[in-house]
Amino acid sequence: MGAGDLGAERREQWGRIVVRLRAEIGETQFKSWLNNLRLVAVRDGVVVYAVPSRFVRDWIVPRYGDRLRSLWLAEDGAVRSIAIDIGESDGDAAAVNGTDASATAVPVADPPTREFTALLDPRYTFADFVVGKPNEFAHAASLRVAESATVTFNPLYLYGGVGLGKTHLMHAIAWQIRGQTPNRKVIYLSAETFMYQFVRALRFKDTMAFKEQFRSVDVLLIDDVQFISGKESTQEEFFHTFNALIDQNRQVVISGDRQPSDLDGMEERLRSRLGWGLVADIHPADYELRLGVLLAEAERSAIPVPRRVLEFIAHKIATNIREVEGALNRVIAHATLVGRPVTLEGTHEILRDLLRAHDRRVTVEEIQRKVAEHYNTRLADMTSDRRARAVARPRQVAMYLAKQLTQRSLPEIGRKFGGRDHTTVIHAVRRVDELKLGDPSFAEDVELLRRSLES
Ligand code: ADP
Ligand code: MG
Repeated sequence: MGAGDLGAERREQWGRIVVRLRAEIGETQFKSWLNNLRLVAVRDGVVVYAVPSRFVRDWIVPRYGDRLRSLWLAEDGAVRSIAIDIGESDGDAAAVNGTDASATAVPVADPPTREFTALLDPRYTFADFVVGKPNEFAHAASLRVAESATVTFNPLYLYGGVGLGKTHLMHAIAWQIRGQTPNRKVIYLSAETFMYQFVRALRFKDTMAFKEQFRSVDVLLIDDVQFISGKESTQEEFFHTFNALIDQNRQVVISGDRQPSDLDGMEERLRSRLGWGLVADIHPADYELRLGVLLAEAERSAIPVPRRVLEFIAHKIATNIREVEGALNRVIAHATLVGRPVTLEGTHEILRDLLRAHDRRVTVEEIQRKVAEHYNTRLADMTSDRRARAVARPRQVAMYLAKQLTQRSLPEIGRKFGGRDHTTVIHAVRRVDELKLGDPSFAEDVELLRRSLES
C-alpha cells in the first residue's frame, strides 16, 4: 500500500481537519505535536498515520486520538478508528491494526497559506469618509496615493489622535487600489499583527516565509506603528522590510498616533526614515465635521433622526468621531428597540451618563460672569449688597445655576456671592424655580444660560 491509496479527496479532508485542529489547540501545540502526523492511508474505515517515534505517539493518542476520530467521522461517516504507526526510521515499526509498517508516509497536507493581510472593513471607503478642515489634507494625500498608478509620496505617514479616521483612510486606500488594479498585491495590517507574525516566525524558525510574504507586496499599509515602540527586534525587522519595499519603489503607508520625530522608543534611523515621504496629520474633529459625520450616519439609519438631535450630539461630544458615532448609534438603537421616534428629550435621557462624563467642570466665577453678561449687569453686582431687582434677579439666577451645575455646597456658594448666608442661596433657588414655572420666557432664558455654560 502506498500513497496511491490517498486520493485528492482524502488530502482535502485532512487539510480541513488540520485547519480545525490548528484553530482549536493553537499554533504552538499543533507545531510541537500534531505536525508530526503523516497521513498514510484510509482503508477499511481506519485512518492510518505515521509518527517519527513512540514518544510522539504516546503523547498524541490519549490527548488527541478521540478528537481526530470525531473530526474524521464528520468528514467521512465510514471512519471507525485511527491508527498511528511509528515510522520506519524509528526502527520500531509496530504496526497497529495490521497496517503495513513500511507504508510510505505522505506529508501532512499543508493548510492554506496564511493570509498576512487583515480583513478590510467594508464601511471604511473613501465614499464613506466625510471630509472637513481637520482631515482634508490627510484625505487628499490618501486619495492621491490610492489613485496614482505610480508611487508618489513614499512613505505616506498619517498621524492623529484616537478615533479620528486613520484606520478608515488606510482601509479606503486599500479598497481603492484593489478595486482599480486587482493584480497589485495590497497588504494591510497593524503593527501589532506585524510583530505577532514576526515573533511567531522566529519561534518556528520560519522567518524566510515571513520575509517572503512582504517581498512580493506592491502596497504595504501598516497601522498604528507606535505599537512597536520599545520592541527592538521587531523594529529591526520592520526597518528592513520597509527599506526593501521603498528601495523597490513599492508604496508604503504608515499610520501612527504622533508624528515620526515624537515616536519615543523608536530607533532614530527608523523615525527619520518614516518622515522621508509625506507626513499628513489629522486634527481633532471640529463641530462641522462632527455634524457632517452624523448627517451621513443618520442618512443610513432605518429610522429618521431629527437634525436637532444631530446638532445636539455634535455639540456635546467633542472628543473623537468614534464616540460621536457611538452616541448616535446608541440613540438609534434605543429608539428602535422601544419602538419610539428619536427625540431631543429622549436623547438627553439616553446619553445622560455619557454627557456627564464629558461635561467639564463649570466654576461659580464662570457662572457669575456669564449671567452678568447675559443680563447686562456688572460682574461686581454678583457680590455686592445692592438689592434692586435689576441686579438681584441675575444674582439669584447665578446662585441657582451654581447650585445646579457645580458640586459646591450651599454655604460655599453663599460665600462666593459676597459672603451671603446659605439660606439666601436656598431662597434664590426656590425663587427661580417659581419664576420658571410662571414665566416660560424666563424659563427659556435660564435654560439657554445653562446650556451655554455646559458646552
Ligand atoms: P483611528 O484609526 O484614527 O483611531 P478610525 O479610523 O478607527 O480612527 O475611526 C473611528 C470611527 O470613526 C470609524 O468608525 C470611522 O469610520 C469613523 N470616522 C472617522 N473619521 C471619519 C470621517 N471623516 N468620515 C466618516 N467616518 C469617520
Ligand atoms: Mg486605528
